[in-house]
Amino acid sequence: MTQYVYRFGGGVSDGGAGDKNLLGGKGANLDGMAAIGLPVPPGFTITTAMCTRYYDEGEVFPDSLRDEVANGIAHIEAVTGKRFGDAADPLLVSVRSGARVSMPGMMDTVLNLGLNDQTVEGLAASSGDARFAWDSYRRFIQMYADVVLELDHGSFEEALEIAKEDKGFYLDTELTAQDLRSLVGSYKALVEEQWGKPFPQDVHDQLWGAVGAVFGSWQSERAKVYRRLNNIPGDWGTAVNVQAMVFGNMGETSATGVAFTRDPATGENAYYGEFLINAQGEDVVAGIRTPQYLTKAARERANAKPLSMEEAMPDVYGQLANVFNILETHYRDMQDIEFTVERGKLWMLQTRSGKRTAKAALKIAVDMAEQGLITREEAVARVDPAALDQLLHPTLDPAAVRDVLAKGLPASPGAASGIAVFDSDTAEKRAEMGESVILVRMETSPEDIHGMHAAKGILTARGGMTSHAAVVARGMGRPCVSGAGNVAIDSKEGVFRVGGREVREGEVITIDGSSGEVMFGEVATVQPELSGDFGTLMVWADAARRMKVRANAETPADCRIARDFGAEGVGLCRTEHMFFEAGRITAVRQMILAEDEAGRRAALAKLLPEQRADFKGIFEVMAGLPVTIRLLDPPLHEFLPTEESDFADVAEAAGVGIDILKRRAAELHEFNPMLGHRGCRLGVTYPEIYEMQARAIFEAACDLNDSPIPEVMVPLVGTRRELELMKEVIDRTAEAVFAERGKRITYLVGTMIELPRAALMAGEIAEVGAFFSFGTNDLTQTTLGVSRDDASRFLTQYVDKGIYAQDPFVSLDIDGVGQLVQLAAERGRATRPDIKLGICGEHGGDPASIHFCERVGLDYVSASPYRVPIARLAAAQAALRKG
Ligand code: PEP
Ligand code: MG
Repeated sequence: MTQYVYRFGGGVSDGGAGDKNLLGGKGANLDGMAAIGLPVPPGFTITTAMCTRYYDEGEVFPDSLRDEVANGIAHIEAVTGKRFGDAADPLLVSVRSGARVSMPGMMDTVLNLGLNDQTVEGLAASSGDARFAWDSYRRFIQMYADVVLELDHGSFEEALEIAKEDKGFYLDTELTAQDLRSLVGSYKALVEEQWGKPFPQDVHDQLWGAVGAVFGSWQSERAKVYRRLNNIPGDWGTAVNVQAMVFGNMGETSATGVAFTRDPATGENAYYGEFLINAQGEDVVAGIRTPQYLTKAARERANAKPLSMEEAMPDVYGQLANVFNILETHYRDMQDIEFTVERGKLWMLQTRSGKRTAKAALKIAVDMAEQGLITREEAVARVDPAALDQLLHPTLDPAAVRDVLAKGLPASPGAASGIAVFDSDTAEKRAEMGESVILVRMETSPEDIHGMHAAKGILTARGGMTSHAAVVARGMGRPCVSGAGNVAIDSKEGVFRVGGREVREGEVITIDGSSGEVMFGEVATVQPELSGDFGTLMVWADAARRMKVRANAETPADCRIARDFGAEGVGLCRTEHMFFEAGRITAVRQMILAEDEAGRRAALAKLLPEQRADFKGIFEVMAGLPVTIRLLDPPLHEFLPTEESDFADVAEAAGVGIDILKRRAAELHEFNPMLGHRGCRLGVTYPEIYEMQARAIFEAACDLNDSPIPEVMVPLVGTRRELELMKEVIDRTAEAVFAERGKRITYLVGTMIELPRAALMAGEIAEVGAFFSFGTNDLTQTTLGVSRDDASRFLTQYVDKGIYAQDPFVSLDIDGVGQLVQLAAERGRATRPDIKLGICGEHGGDPASIHFCERVGLDYVSASPYRVPIARLAAAQAALRKG
């Protein structure tokens, strides 16, 4: 029979520690911590397999589970010496979710379960603390009503506020045992009123209700959204962890906290965290009371008064620091920890690999490798290439004028400007309309995920560095300022007020998630400088990498950036971009409007020196590296005006009548320009265009002493004959230039593979071309029959409905388009074993697609300059995974 319950703690283990898939991350690590002798309250985990079965069987539990759970409870009873439901000295438990990967705040938790009208008296007597017992009972009812019974959360909050107001209190901790006892009375009345039944008194009913609610939360809307955004499969399910309660709310020697073994924002090797005296875990995360710092250094740095844990509880702090070291050595990664101190004794409630900023990920990986805790290869494998994007984000220009409105906590680094928006639906809508949005909220909750995702940055008035907003924003790489306490938000009216000023919805603000500043208006930004750790990790990545990384760039400035980011050549120089520059567009138009070859040649002659200068500039920057130049690709109509108002000016500049211009524009009109007169079809019909471009390339190369090897690339080839014809033009031009200059240079002629026919006929095409560069933008378009310019109208739905796993223009459709790439690579190599193979579609900067390129054995990937570091790291990871 399948085992669905695994026990841990108290020296007992059913041995699931290694299996996060079965026990979920939390359950596996609780067992793991107990196994290495750390103080873990005893408990048991109901497996994720049970969750799957629960849903498969119509949300019912099999009878056998009841026996297994009874067994689990008996285990906790044996270790703690308390009995579940015992009126004299009751065992209380927590019931928590725990999926394979952490989904912070997405699923449900119930604490203090096992309290009822009898056991609360027993707890008061056994603990000698009536206030604590009644506080736990009111917390339990409140949580249970919210999570399990799904009653109106607000009415319970309101009753608590009224109880405090009646007494003139500000903090929950000021309420006395008697106050809390009468609050419990109000809570029970609220339950009966809203649920129609009294609050459940049978502790076993309470337990099953909570287990069902945790499984149920797997299918909550917010959990589904989170899974979709994070590519977590819906059939993984969650585990449920039932564990003996330990109490952080047993007076001044008790506390609860969350901590990271290193700073998750900067990566600094210093303990980092927050704690609250006389509180339960939810109080820290909820951000209602402001938590205190863990270390003295952090408190002093923040200039805060309340004592740090290091100062207030030196003994327990010592125990905790020791646990941090044990955990890092055991798990060999930075850990994110939840702990509770019950009357001076430390208990560990959770550990997991901590989420971190890209900057911290880099620093931690490099530091740990240098400490000898992990290898260099592991360090390379640890950093998510996509997260490097965060490091490449702009920061505020230090010289820019700032109109600072407020200061909060620097919760997630990076700077962003946008219009203030006060709710997540509006944030999503306005972002879809192309506006940059800053989401401004009192505090965020999992319901805000879509708004946070749509926003460029997040600002909250409440909550600490481990609040929901802070944790989620860091994970998403969104700049975030949290806990800006003096910002008064009125989301109904759509305004926030601070220091006598007002910001209304739609007005632009800037936030700096690295300093915590909130500014009025847009503040100029500067590009980031990359840290020494970045350079170190990149050197290690380069040592592990097989594929080369090139850049898609067409100006000397872009090439310089690309080279600085480590590009090893240009994989795609799109020459048409040069044609749009002021000063030459007129010559381009004259060429298009010319009636015959002689007219075209005259216009092309004007372009030649300009193109030659373009290439010279690029060759100079890329000296010593290969540069692939693609000959003209887009249909000619793209260079002509479309607006009626522009016709007259353009006609005059080009020196033709407006009627000629209009006629030519009409002639060039195409129903489907992507499949029309473009690519090498231009070169076949107007060879003089490619001839001019080839001449510009060879003249530029001959003019330089240290020229790179030009790779002349013909676009949109579908047949061997097309490439043959174009190669003749290029070779003939090369010979002419070499003869004129009395100098030869080495060059290659190759083609893009962007049509299914080209992929299929790659064997023949390779007889002519010395290299293939996969133009997977067009290859995706032509293989899927999906227009790359119009697809956005339905693509989101296609992804939502699971038709495509992801946008195929972002991440390569490996199953479909990938087959063509693989086949073309194989056929090309069969003909020409040393054929150079690369990719220059947008997929060249996408980590998943790069892994595929490694598997197929391409020689290089080419990505836009800012994605070059991402591509270097992803290529290294791909090589490591393969090897
Ligand atoms: C491609 O099609 O993948 C490509 C790189 O060319 P372009 O995007 O310019 O069509
Ligand atoms: Mg293309």
